[in-house]
Amino acid sequence: MKKSEFTECPMCGGRLEKHTVLHHPEKGILYHIPHDVCTHCGEIFLSDESFDIVHSYGRKDKAVA
Ligand SMILES: [Zn+2]
Repeated sequence: MKKSEFTECPMCGGRLEKHTVLHHPEKGILYHIPHDVCTHCGEIFLSDESFDIVHSYGRKDKAVA
């Protein structure tokens, strides 16, 4: 999970898809926030705003679904 916005994946060059429901693989929490997912390697890219949301909710261990 990277804190960045790209039009294509900087890891593998794959196409990024817009998603709005993010499952945090480590915390097991669902977030309703905009983010991009690489269709090739599956890397997740968050905007600054989304990144802050994930980290603030994560500290409280509060699910948003
Ligand atoms: Zn990729």
